[in-house]
Amino acid sequence: MNRLVEKKDSGLITPDLKKLGFSKKFNVIAGPCSIEEKDSFFRTASKLVNEGIKIIRGGTYKIRTSPYSFQGLGAKGLKIMKETADELGFKSVSEMTDIRQLDEFLKNIDIIQIGARNMFNSEMLKELGRTTHPVILKRAPSARIEEFLDAAEYIVSEGNKNIILCERGIVSFDNSTRNCINIADPVVLKRRTNLPVIVDPSHGVGNASYITSVSKAIAALGVDGIMLEVHENPSQALSDSFQTISVEEFIELHKQMQKIANV
Ligand code: PEP
Ligand code: MN
Repeated sequence: MNRLVEKKDSGLITPDLKKLGFSKKFNVIAGPCSIEEKDSFFRTASKLVNEGIKIIRGGTYKIRTSPYSFQGLGAKGLKIMKETADELGFKSVSEMTDIRQLDEFLKNIDIIQIGARNMFNSEMLKELGRTTHPVILKRAPSARIEEFLDAAEYIVSEGNKNIILCERGIVSFDNSTRNCINIADPVVLKRRTNLPVIVDPSHGVGNASYITSVSKAIAALGVDGIMLEVHENPSQALSDSFQTISVEEFIELHKQMQKIANV
């Protein structure tokens, strides 16, 4: 059976994604791994908005390896995201970790992220497919491109075409980076599908000192955008501190990526 996501005749960027400010240009999504409290999130988001960022991420329900790690603010985090987005005028992204959260995400979050650990959760994908809500679908670390496309197909075949695919690296035998981003894979996805493709080097590389170089390469790939973890004080971040860049580093990198992507 031919997949709908591989049909070439439908539009890449749907009207619903356009409404969120997602365009044919190189789209930059940034924000902290997790929302930790209102004031620091507001400060970071204000600086990102001043830099022209239209879509801001912030984790609320966090899937962590250890139950003793920071689990996110949950429903309170969604409320902070909604208030801050309304006050500053940006569109929001946050990860939904359980289908029971769907109603509160539909009310509070503009783009629902399905994280790498839930890419294979087909019941959740089907349920999202029955909405028209925009989704960022991340690749599972163990998923082949074919399986990633099948996951997107679960959403599209139920009727929801508002999907952005996000490459975030897969497991490999090498542990010098957190995951392995095969530079060719986003290109393969762009060729194979009619969906926008972005890359998340923060989780892909897992080390802030490599982020600038890798992000510049992503800007040159001809993909639809990038998603980066940014925090006002990375060393104090409650999750993914090691891979998070500062707001100042981000602003410098953003200017460089725009130049590269325009070439
Ligand atoms: C995230 O983006 O916050 C995240 C947890 O990423 P991933 O699902 O790719 O690990
Ligand atoms: Mn993270």
